[in-house]
Amino acid sequence: LYLDHPLAEGQSVPLDRDQAHYLFGVMRLGPGDGVLVFNGREGEWLAEVAEAGKRAGTLAVRRQTRPLQMPPDLWLLFAPIKKARTDFIVEKAAEMGAARILPVQTEFTNSDRIRRDRLQAHAIEAAEQCGGTYVPEVAELQRLDRLLDDWPGDRQLMFCDEAEVGAGRALGAAGGDKWAILIGPEGGFSDRERARLKALPLAHVVSLGPRILRADTAAVAAMTVWQMTLGDWR
Ligand code: SAM
Repeated sequence: LYLDHPLAEGQSVPLDRDQAHYLFGVMRLGPGDGVLVFNGREGEWLAEVAEAGKRAGTLAVRRQTRPLQMPPDLWLLFAPIKKARTDFIVEKAAEMGAARILPVQTEFTNSDRIRRDRLQAHAIEAAEQCGGTYVPEVAELQRLDRLLDDWPGDRQLMFCDEAEVGAGRALGAAGGDKWAILIGPEGGFSDRERARLKALPLAHVVSLGPRILRADTAAVAAMTVWQMTLGDWR
């Protein structure tokens, strides 16, 4: 169970209505029962139900069961698409071990706003589902150009571009431990954006094969390629 609360031995954590409903109504837990909790920052802990009510309750934190397991330092940059597909990208990024998720506005991005809190909730649910102890932060929507203006000098960029069939096969040779993957919107990148991205000193243009993938498929494919060649699946 995810708790947005500091976790330490002896800590008492109040539960909100939804959490109480889930633990006591759905899972049928009662006082004295154990539950594994995490907050995305301090690992996994065993807690005990101290008070169980219909709309509220309290957990008493007992001991740590697993330390925080940090994923590799990988950012996923993607242009938001339709709501359900954007939700999918965030969920899969959290499952596949992205450390940060950054929605970016490109020239051909259709949406100019996102519901950051809703996307963050998807990332939390995905971390819960896959037994992770870390929750990636979902950043506010920002312009890709702005992000590139201040691009960190030590972070390499896997720029996924369907126009570059066969490119990027030697990605693994690039090494380095700070990375970002960039996936464009359904309309792809403009010529200006392509030129700017290719000129970025730390950019690696990568093809994900000869077919044009939808952005959500491309995000999962790119994270798979990266994890296999440079990440923690090696
Ligand atoms: N520009 C395209 C068009 O309108 O025909 C389609 C863009 S594609 C649906 C969305 C994004 O997925 C692209 O910007 C790219 O980042 C990524 N992508 C899709 N297929 C790819 C491939 N074969 N290789 C690399 N990236 C790909």
